[in-house]
Amino acid sequence: MAAHGGSGQQGSDRLALLETAWHGRDVTPEQAAQTARAALKSPDGARADVILAYLDWRAGHYSRSAGRLGRAMPRLERGPGLPDVWLGRALNTLANLHSLLNQPGEAATLFGRQLQLARDLDSAELEASGLHDLGVSQFLVGDAVRAEAHLRRALPLLDGLSDPVGQGIARLNLGILNLRAGQPQVATEQLLRALATVWGGPEAEVARAPELPWLESRLRRSLLEAAEAAGDDRLVAEQETALRRLSTRAPDHLEIALDIALALSSRAGPQATLEQLRPVLDLARRLGQEQHAGLVCAHERLSEACAALGDPGAALDHLRAALALERATHAAEREQQYRTLEVLHHTRVLNDIAEQERQKNSQLLSDLRDLQTLNEHMRRLSLTDGLTGLYNRYHLFLEGERLSARAAPDRPLGVAIIDIDHFKRINDRCGHLPGDEVLRTLARLIRDFAQPGDLAARYGGEEFVLLRPGVSAPAFAADLQALRQAVTGFGWEAVAPGLRVTVSIGVAEACGPHFEAGLGAADQCLYLVKNTGRDAVRFCHSPECPPGPA
Ligand code: GH3
Ligand code: MG
Ligand code: MG
Repeated sequence: MAAHGGSGQQGSDRLALLETAWHGRDVTPEQAAQTARAALKSPDGARADVILAYLDWRAGHYSRSAGRLGRAMPRLERGPGLPDVWLGRALNTLANLHSLLNQPGEAATLFGRQLQLARDLDSAELEASGLHDLGVSQFLVGDAVRAEAHLRRALPLLDGLSDPVGQGIARLNLGILNLRAGQPQVATEQLLRALATVWGGPEAEVARAPELPWLESRLRRSLLEAAEAAGDDRLVAEQETALRRLSTRAPDHLEIALDIALALSSRAGPQATLEQLRPVLDLARRLGQEQHAGLVCAHERLSEACAALGDPGAALDHLRAALALERATHAAEREQQYRTLEVLHHTRVLNDIAEQERQKNSQLLSDLRDLQTLNEHMRRLSLTDGLTGLYNRYHLFLEGERLSARAAPDRPLGVAIIDIDHFKRINDRCGHLPGDEVLRTLARLIRDFAQPGDLAARYGGEEFVLLRPGVSAPAFAADLQALRQAVTGFGWEAVAPGLRVTVSIGVAEACGPHFEAGLGAADQCLYLVKNTGRDAVRFCHSPECPPGPA
């Protein structure tokens, strides 16, 4: 099998591992990345690249993600059994990248291709992720109506996939959408159902596996906001308690800590706000993530709190920090966006060139095949006689010399010249076309008579030559009586009424370099037959090829 492909069993094992890695990409990203990296050099390398591209996108490495997708997608489009669900996953990730880069049109086109592929492959997974992410992308550009419609269509599909995390994320997004649309009651319902789907209920003491603090903090923060807007104090208190508990479970994760601190400080007084948010700034410093975009909000809240506490100096410092961070983030985002677009553009250009090359190559290949066929046809034409289909004079001499060179006096090359008797008269009486038919028919009779290894050719007008390696002239002449009789006994009436055809045959031998001498001897012999009444076979000995010592 293929050098690094391994056996079919290995291949299907690897594919199963990659499937598991894909489905675990959000819950255990490290493990998924490890599996994918191990398969990068295998025949499933393009699939592994799709997993890594997804993880790069999630981790904010957009241009690297785009580069991987650009390499992987052409390889996922062509080949036996392709495209499969992995092309859909690649399309989905690329669409999300475009959506993030503020290119909603491009994103919509890619989501459209993903959904078409989902239908072609009958894949609920692709359809669910396509509808969901298309909805999110529409939400980002402010099209809340379409966004909600798509998210709602994705939900039952996600239910069918038994993908609690996917369902949780879809309901979180629906909840946020409803909250922004001024429907805190509906939002609350969605968010509670999201919690229940992933962890089995809002009151669950300890979160059920999988532990997803990033999802839980997002959900509870939104739920807190929705409950506040809906005036549900009991639910607000519940979320505050749960968030406090969560902060002790994921102490070193900046985004989670920030989510929790922002949620808990939203209703708190200025002093409590300082107590919540200052440790988050310390954590950012400790983790070297002081430039994290999410901190803008923290600085703004802190600025307000400091002002309320009568410390305008500190308030100003936080405001300056928020402003600087916002500028830096904006510049970094633009830089990132520019680089990703450049990579996407570059890979598209490269893929276009590759496609053009492929088309040019396939055209060349087909031209070459036509040329080869034509060549073969021409070669055959150049060797055969157009009227009878037997070899022509040119090939007779070429092959005759070769066969003669291999012959010896004890194993000579038998040479026979077969000439139609009074052919001129046949032409005169019956016409040239029936004359042609006589030539064709005789050629067929000679072909029927020939044995494997013989060579039959049209020597001239109504003269044919038959070569038979390894036979003496007397033996060949004796055999050729059968041909002569076949000609005489043929039903020539079918060609022209009253037609009768006979042939005269002169036989000799050739050996060594004396092919032409052998042919000359056969011709001499034929002349003798013509002069002694025709319709007969005669053999002569060629002086250059004396009979062997038998
Ligand atoms: P002989 O028995 O002595 O061989 O007499 P013959 O008439 O067969 O011999 P001759 O060489 O005098 O005439 C050969 C004739 O074959 C002359 C020519 O018109 C005719 N011929 C040659 N090539 C073709 C052809 O392709 N088609 C037709 N219909 N006739 C041809
Ligand atoms: Mg003749
Ligand atoms: Mg003749």
